[in-house]
Amino acid sequence: MSDNTPRSNPSENNIVVVGAGPAGLCAAIALAKSDVPVTLVAAPHRPAGNRPDTRTAALFNPAIALLSNLGAWEYCKQQSAELHAIRLIDDTGDLIRAPEVLFNASEIGAQVFGYNIPQEPLVHALREIAKQTPTLQIFESAGVRELNPGTDDVELRLAEGETLRAKLAVAADGRRSITRQAAGITTETRDCGQTAVTCIFAHTRDHAGVSSEFHRRAGPMTVVPMPGRHSSLVWVERPSVAQRLYDMDEPGFARTLEQNLQGLLGTISEVGPRAIFPLSYMHADRMARNRIALVGESGHAMPPIGAQGLNLSLRDVAHLAELVAESSGRGEDVGSQSLLRRYDSLRTPDARNRGFAVNTLNQALLSEFPPVQLGRAVGMHLIKAIGPLRHQLMKLGMAPTTPLPPLMHFRGTSS
Ligand SMILES: Cc1cc2nc3c(=O)[nH]c(=O)nc-3n(C[C@H](O)[C@H](O)[C@H](O)COP(=O)(O)OP(=O)(O)OC[C@H]3O[C@@H](n4cnc5c(N)ncnc54)[C@H](O)[C@@H]3O)c2cc1C
Repeated sequence: MSDNTPRSNPSENNIVVVGAGPAGLCAAIALAKSDVPVTLVAAPHRPAGNRPDTRTAALFNPAIALLSNLGAWEYCKQQSAELHAIRLIDDTGDLIRAPEVLFNASEIGAQVFGYNIPQEPLVHALREIAKQTPTLQIFESAGVRELNPGTDDVELRLAEGETLRAKLAVAADGRRSITRQAAGITTETRDCGQTAVTCIFAHTRDHAGVSSEFHRRAGPMTVVPMPGRHSSLVWVERPSVAQRLYDMDEPGFARTLEQNLQGLLGTISEVGPRAIFPLSYMHADRMARNRIALVGESGHAMPPIGAQGLNLSLRDVAHLAELVAESSGRGEDVGSQSLLRRYDSLRTPDARNRGFAVNTLNQALLSEFPPVQLGRAVGMHLIKAIGPLRHQLMKLGMAPTTPLPPLMHFRGTSS
């Protein structure tokens, strides 16, 4: 069902998801599997303003399992590339240089770490699946304008003047979420003073399924495999430099990129549209309150280092869907305090730990303080030299050590 007439039955045990980015779409589809009626309020999704969103998402195996279980993976697979290894290269120019480190999925008994998926087709595929999900109603709207959480339900007022009521509202409305604000959840936010430039490009040398992250003084520059001799780029720079890169003509940009990649991928051509993303770090003080649960960037945002953002968001989705399925199976209120407390206790540590790790690495790159530079170099030496440490980091990078919900396991396997 995807008509534009909102249903709202105050006595119903129902859910409204606010926001149709990747986290909101996955949440709506996953929650609808528990047979609780779900309404998705879908405002236009334009993360790069009026330009194409040329970001890709490197998603690890648990996130791929989730997409597969939601039926989205078969639509995305053709446009995605396997990630066999991740290479870290010190390009800081510091006096104390860190060694190059290669993390290979085969070292931890995995065929691949995951896949690199272009974000626009991913959102498109999820939209199609959402439309075909019987217990999910999509309400195309200019957006939710006001929310009033009460004791028994949440009232949501839409831009079109309609009112919805829900036992549970899911905030998937991004980092400036008004749904989070309505819940009375505060945030800690820090501007990183960095901007990412993204695009997809062609090259003459094989990437061999290896993602390469150049650690530079202004931030990382990462090239991630795409099918064939194509890669995606996330180039983090100071805002003024990023703007210059964004404004360059295509041959000039290709030349500059080629020089900065130091021949790694050979000659660069066919540079696709560029997009630009100012970076900030944000975490919510909790992940749920007052009949509202946060998923994705409404709860946590961080610079694109180590491909953590959407992987973390999809773990929010899988955990929330599991709790809701259990609760509705017992005939309980899906927005109850006990469910929200449980969700918060499952998600806050993961979000905080990832944010802390990403922020620490980013700050270590930016630091001009020699002891910090020395610490970073020593750390990389240890990671390169000590196999078990490297293996542990690889596993932790992909997912926390705590058990993952069933939606993040490939069906029929225990992986
Ligand atoms: C350069 C870059 C590279 C990245 N690479 C990776 C990567 O390789 N791997 C990875 O895991 N992550 C990566 N990330 C992170 C990932 O892109 C984000 O985590 C993800 O896109 C966030 O999705 P979201 O659905 O939470 O939020 P958004 O994409 O911000 O979606 C929020 C949605 O809510 C809607 N909305 C807002 N307000 C309202 C309202 N009032 N009512 C209704 N709807 C509303 C918006 O229109 C939007 O559609 C990267 C991020 C950047 C910036």
